[in-house]
Amino acid sequence: MRNALLLIVALIAAHGSVQAQQHVLQAGIDVLNYEFTIQLPDAGRHIDAHALITVRRSSASDNVVFDLVGLQVDTVSVNAKPSAFQKDKATLRISLGPISRPSADTLLVDVHYSGEVEDGLIIQTDNKGRWRAFGDNWPTRARLWLPTVDDPADKATVTWHIIAPIDRKIVANGELIEEKVMSTENGTVGGKKKITTWRMSKPIPPYLMVIAAAPLVSYDLGLTARGLSEFPPGVKQSVYVFPEQANYLPGPFERAGDIVEFFARTVAPFPYEKLAHLQSSTRYGGMENASAIFYADDIFQRRAVTDGLIAHETAHQWFGDAVTPRSWGHLWLSEGFASYFEKLWVEKSEGEAAFRNGMRELCDEIVNAREVQQRPVIDTLQTEPMQLLNTNSYQKGAWILHMLRSMLGDSLFFGGIRSYYMHHRHSNATSDDLCDDLGTFAHSDLRWFFDQWLRRPGFPEITTDWKYDPQTQSVTLEIEQGSRFRPYRFPLKVEIQMPGGSSQFIVVDVPAQKSYTVLLRKVDSPPKELLFDPLIELLAAIKSKSTK
Ligand SMILES: [Zn+2]
Repeated sequence: MRNALLLIVALIAAHGSVQAQQHVLQAGIDVLNYEFTIQLPDAGRHIDAHALITVRRSSASDNVVFDLVGLQVDTVSVNAKPSAFQKDKATLRISLGPISRPSADTLLVDVHYSGEVEDGLIIQTDNKGRWRAFGDNWPTRARLWLPTVDDPADKATVTWHIIAPIDRKIVANGELIEEKVMSTENGTVGGKKKITTWRMSKPIPPYLMVIAAAPLVSYDLGLTARGLSEFPPGVKQSVYVFPEQANYLPGPFERAGDIVEFFARTVAPFPYEKLAHLQSSTRYGGMENASAIFYADDIFQRRAVTDGLIAHETAHQWFGDAVTPRSWGHLWLSEGFASYFEKLWVEKSEGEAAFRNGMRELCDEIVNAREVQQRPVIDTLQTEPMQLLNTNSYQKGAWILHMLRSMLGDSLFFGGIRSYYMHHRHSNATSDDLCDDLGTFAHSDLRWFFDQWLRRPGFPEITTDWKYDPQTQSVTLEIEQGSRFRPYRFPLKVEIQMPGGSSQFIVVDVPAQKSYTVLLRKVDSPPKELLFDPLIELLAAIKSKSTK
């Protein structure tokens, strides 16, 4: 996701902490599929809903706990038999009965529930009097309207049956299966209703399970990335907006096809049935819901959608959605990747200079960010996911990938990324998984790199100095590391500029020590200047002591 404003994040962080407890994953309980049937109201926030949940049980556990905050549970059955349950403020505990086979069984849990939805599904009436509802679950708000194992590590497929007045467009994850008008005998009051069914056939975490229900109009971007989807023949893309924004389109979405094609060629086929882009009520600037990206309403109203934002949320379909961090502490595997792939799109579409400028800007943000100085990227002590939407997860995460690429070279880096993606596609991953997959592919032990950049706060603060000795025709290079952070190990590229205008590049392998001196021999005349990290490949604050 991308944040609209830091201020909003701060407000939400304060407000959202009530329901943000971590779900405690139950050993031997794995949700395979959710099938939600939700009757939306004509007005107001009351829903009547029904969740059919397929649970795989591989331990002797005789109950299952779902997250469900507020709302009222009316009846529960397990394998079509009424079941005892306990509903408290935040959870629903259901008795499963004894395990039927010695090793494992699969249960169908049926929950009927209803009530006023407070959040998660954001229901509003806009200033034109139009009723609208948009799911916005990140990080732990699915449980405010959906009984789920609301944890990124329990991914499941999902089917949506949404009952709503016929003038609302219903969009959800996956593929549109059916949209049919219901006869009035089906219990509707005041006008015709329809039932719309969407089906997501790849497992996703609950934080990405969404619906949109609003008077939206759609703009068809057609079939893009032909031959580059897990669902042949290509990626069907469309944009959904409120009618007054219809003449904005395709606008920045003209590049949406190129963006998907570029990422699919760089990583792997697009993972889902289609890709929709929606004007929505999300709290975030953009939210990468699987196959249905939600963008903030006001960005459309101001007509300020950028292809950087589209690229960021699109990259999440691979990183975050198809490969999901196993726990929030590894959030950089989602946000760092999306931030870096956004910059890779800049490199592809605007060229190398724009890309390097972008990386330099991120570097400036990192060295000035307090959380980078105080906390590591893998911040397992931070239990509030909102607090992880920070410079560590985004900018520093992106820079860690950039340094891996600079160190390994394009072929090994992208090959290693593809290998990691294919290993964990439609599943979960941790930072160690990435370290192992990249390291195996590149035949290189990268643990020192991952430890130093991900498990420690900070960055190298380097002071450089050099002098030329005409007697020995050599350059002495001194690299001093500041004492605020432990010394880092890194390759440092140096450009030696000669008076005639020629240049030579060398790479110094700087060890993790406070000061390091290198002697460069056979420099037959005094260099004009030495440039340290001229190609912006090292995340560091670099200053030079003097020249000559
Ligand atoms: Zn993001």
